[in-house]
Amino acid sequence: MISEDTIIASATAPGIGAIAVLRISGVKAISLTDQVFSKDLPTAKTHTIHLGEIKDGDRILDQVLVSLFRGPHSYTGENVVEISCHGSPYIQEQVIQLFLRKGCRMANPGEFTLRAFLNGKLDLSQAEAVADIIASDSEASHKIAMQQMRGGFSSEIQLLRTELLNFASLIELELDFSEEDVEFADREAFLELLNRIEKTLKKLIDSFSLGNVIKNGIPIAIVGKPNVGKSTLLNALLNEERAIVSEIAGTTRDTIEDEITIGGIRFRFIDTAGIRDTGDQIEQIGIKRTFENIEKARVVFFLFEAKELQTHPEELHATIDKVRQKAREQPVLLLANKADAMETEVYKEQLHQLGNSTGMDFLALSALEHTGLDQLKDKLLHLVNTGTLQKNETIVTNSRHYDALLKALAEIQKVQESMEEGISGDLLAIDIRQALYHLGEITGEITTDDLLGNIFANFCIGK
Ligand code: GDP
Repeated sequence: MISEDTIIASATAPGIGAIAVLRISGVKAISLTDQVFSKDLPTAKTHTIHLGEIKDGDRILDQVLVSLFRGPHSYTGENVVEISCHGSPYIQEQVIQLFLRKGCRMANPGEFTLRAFLNGKLDLSQAEAVADIIASDSEASHKIAMQQMRGGFSSEIQLLRTELLNFASLIELELDFSEEDVEFADREAFLELLNRIEKTLKKLIDSFSLGNVIKNGIPIAIVGKPNVGKSTLLNALLNEERAIVSEIAGTTRDTIEDEITIGGIRFRFIDTAGIRDTGDQIEQIGIKRTFENIEKARVVFFLFEAKELQTHPEELHATIDKVRQKAREQPVLLLANKADAMETEVYKEQLHQLGNSTGMDFLALSALEHTGLDQLKDKLLHLVNTGTLQKNETIVTNSRHYDALLKALAEIQKVQESMEEGISGDLLAIDIRQALYHLGEITGEITTDDLLGNIFANFCIGK
């Protein structure tokens, strides 16, 4: 499957820049560059940089730096040349055209990384992490992608898979001696291995829900009656006027999502229409959506005016009960807004009591004057349990891996059941093979052209 073609693509973003990097990989990368470059390259050592001119016949196209890597000691494992030229789209185009005439072809999306995978420089999950690193836009998503690229959990899976493979071979060997009733595979050790694999898979599967939200942003719903200051709070957090703030109750009818990075983690704030009994049709749709958003959120901010603690305590309790019924799984944070408008601090005592009686965390703040926002951010980080991130634990973010992990777990559990039932070796062997297959899909030990095509088609050209 390894291609003989030598490929070229720009590795830098399109448009004008100070410098652009053109990347060439393949058997002929060095010899082709040598034909158009003013310096001698065939004898040049690997990992060296050369200043010279790229010439199309007598015409000098640009003065460039050529970085040279001899396979297998390169990103792709093949000969690689990287030309750093001036970042004019015209120059890039001219140099690329020159190489195409000399016999290169344009690289497909992700083809450099595909070649790195095919040449054993990266396993599949590491190759996928390359795309995640390029796409990472927060400290947390960057950290997870880096961890995965350094080997992440695929090396762990690979080891377990090798152990399982050994057992599979022993059990299959038993089948050849079926008449003699021998057992080569130590059943107790096998059960122990199955338990270990099950535990590892479960841990990785559990990490996906956190991993996924970190990659896509952790959804937070801000709910509360109209006019309590939801948009103002959102704006304060975003520090820009994006949601509509208005004096008329019920204006934030549509849900607005905005993203903000706090403590290196991306949050998606969902500002919602208020909760209140209303005959207005449009608003009722908004309220229905509010409840849907509560279900989708990982944390719920319940916002009310601090003065309500004194003026409408029963109504406040009733609404909080409603929210609790919708937010059964997620933590709800009680936020007493407009604290600045309170003359005395008596409400604090009542807020305390409200927190105690509902068992919810609480905080007084002023969205308008930006007080209490730091405490709010601290509480938020605490609530989403970012401890897992700090501890450097493995987190699965890729839905393909998640899928393969679920399938592998199901197969492993099937094997465990079969063992308990004392099922015959030939049937056991089939289940083990299935589990091996799904584990291999994660690391890329088992691949199909479709799978590779799907993964690498999502890369940018030049990577
Ligand atoms: P929403 O309907 O819940 O989104 O409420 P808005 O954010 O539109 O705010 C309604 C009104 O309350 C606006 O006039 C805001 O300026 C005001 N407001 C919001 N937060 C505070 C606050 O902390 N203190 C005071 N005094 N007024 C606030």
